Amino acid sequence: MKKQKEVDYYKVIPKYLHKDADALIDYVKYFPYQFPTECPFCGYRSFKQTSGTNTAGEPRFVCYSCKRNFSQLTGTYFAQMKQIELWPDFVALRLTGISLIKIKNILGMSMHAITNREKALQKMVKDLFPDLAEWWLPHHQWQDRRLTSQVEKEKQVFMSFLDTLLYQETLDCPTCGNVMKRLEASKHRPYFVCHRCKTSKNLLSNTELFRLDHVDLWHAYTNYLIKGESNLTIQDMLKISHICALNWRKRFIKQMTSMGLDELVFWINWQWGRRQGSIKGAEISKSRKNDQES
Ligand SMILES: [Zn+2]
Ligand SMILES: [Zn+2]
Repeated sequence: MKKQKEVDYYKVIPKYLHKDADALIDYVKYFPYQFPTECPFCGYRSFKQTSGTNTAGEPRFVCYSCKRNFSQLTGTYFAQMKQIELWPDFVALRLTGISLIKIKNILGMSMHAITNREKALQKMVKDLFPDLAEWWLPHHQWQDRRLTSQVEKEKQVFMSFLDTLLYQETLDCPTCGNVMKRLEASKHRPYFVCHRCKTSKNLLSNTELFRLDHVDLWHAYTNYLIKGESNLTIQDMLKISHICALNWRKRFIKQMTSMGLDELVFWINWQWGRRQGSIKGAEISKSRKNDQES
């Protein structure tokens, strides 16, 4: 996996937890290969390596006290697991919010192996990185939807962009410099006309939001979008059509991307993915269908 991918979780995890997240990746990268320090069964610190290896090719040890056999993975989060080398990628993808189904395809693992690993990961984070667990698990399971500070900043940038469009009353004419007035007849359009040279200008014309309807709903829409609500929920709340909801998601995200609000976009997609992970059965396939449509 490329270096770039590995730090994608910086975009969703608050800064004060980056160290923990990095340490977690290091832990799964190095711990499984460390020589054991004590017997996992009785804690006795004296044991010897046997001549044999297990099926995964790991060295076996035998305890001088309880006489039991073990490998360096016995009794750890990694016990009985194959493809130990995929752990760092798995954790990085999970922290970034990639769904289990996507990870299954990216890493070429079975669904059974993926769900086992997810269970082990959640336990590992709780045990070893309680601060990270406290923030990550509720967000991961879509229970806590507070924004991180960078996302909050980018949200404000987008909101003030919208407010300018929605409330700006005058504009300097790009042709003659005269003050252009907002056209009263198009209350919901940031459409300006110069009375001196007859130049007209729509503030939306160079944006991704050009020709979208219901300008008055955009503010509320953006809030729902950032919260990670589904198209179905949003269309019900705002009484807009399904086609409209699909189209808005695409166009608003494009607009945010063109404004360089990458962390905001990342957050929206992440929250959306978390929501899909938090609901069950039929609803999941329903929202996945939306995913493909939009
Ligand atoms: Zn022992
Ligand atoms: Zn003019």
